[in-house]
Amino acid sequence: MKGKLYMGLDVGGSKISAALVDIRGQMSLLRRQSTPPDGKLAQELLVEMARGLLEHVTASTAEVVGAGIGFGGPVDYRNQRIRGSHHTEGWEVNLPLAQEVGEALGLPVRLDNDANTAGLGEALFGAGKGKERVLYINVGTGIGGALVRNQQVYHGAHCHAGEIGHVILQKDGPLCACGHHGCLEPLASGTAMGQAAVRALDENPKLDTRLKDYPREEISGVLVSDLALEGDELSRSIIAQAADWLGLAAANACNVWDPDAVIIGGGVSGAGDTLMEPFRRAFRGYAAPPANEETDLYLAKLGYDAGVVGAAALALTTM
Ligand SMILES: [Zn+2]
Repeated sequence: MKGKLYMGLDVGGSKISAALVDIRGQMSLLRRQSTPPDGKLAQELLVEMARGLLEHVTASTAEVVGAGIGFGGPVDYRNQRIRGSHHTEGWEVNLPLAQEVGEALGLPVRLDNDANTAGLGEALFGAGKGKERVLYINVGTGIGGALVRNQQVYHGAHCHAGEIGHVILQKDGPLCACGHHGCLEPLASGTAMGQAAVRALDENPKLDTRLKDYPREEISGVLVSDLALEGDELSRSIIAQAADWLGLAAANACNVWDPDAVIIGGGVSGAGDTLMEPFRRAFRGYAAPPANEETDLYLAKLGYDAGVVGAAALALTTM
């Protein structure tokens, strides 16, 4: 009997990733390329990378059942169309990307946004394996999220479910990309962490911190989390503050949806326990009992591969 494989295609702001994944979540033939700065070119590269993978399979004994695309921007899941992109210019609004890539490859293709696919990947094959209901929070340059139940992403009435980055925590807080003030995203994203570091350095140039060794434009959430891991005090306090906001938002979400587990992923999750300890403390403090003590709180397990594995998981769970 032929082994079944699912193709994962992850379209991020900086990289396009493609790989084949089996039903146990094992990945093979991973390819990564820089995302062209134009939607049309990016789509052509995506198809070319996918065809490259298919060429490898024809000679073997496996069958590629279909492909999933995780897209780094808002997606109309119901109509399988891109709503636009925050990261890359030139993506046509309402583009039926799944249909177009499907026709080019001769395969069924499903499309979702990349936070939903990463959450699905973590729920199936990562930290949430075996859990029925998973809330996934992706902390990168922005903050995305996903609600996964019984191995399916819950999209809601307007394909907006899981958008925890836009939960408002501080009515007069910092401006968010969505136009509102005080959303979780401008308080706790990687971008917000980088900005908090620059602000602290501007306010107090005498601070004893390794962040001073870097030009301001290189200070990002990932740098802050790397330095926090190495024990830099200012970086640790910035991570702790963001983790407190994340704990508050997660507690509010859990009071509504009551999942078995909350998983924190994305670039900033590289901070590990430096992030998770204050996150756990905040969540236990803010959520209502018994969920405050009984909800499992995990760091994502798949790392950078969550995107491509999750995109394949979308194909696996919908075909
Ligand atoms: Zn917002």
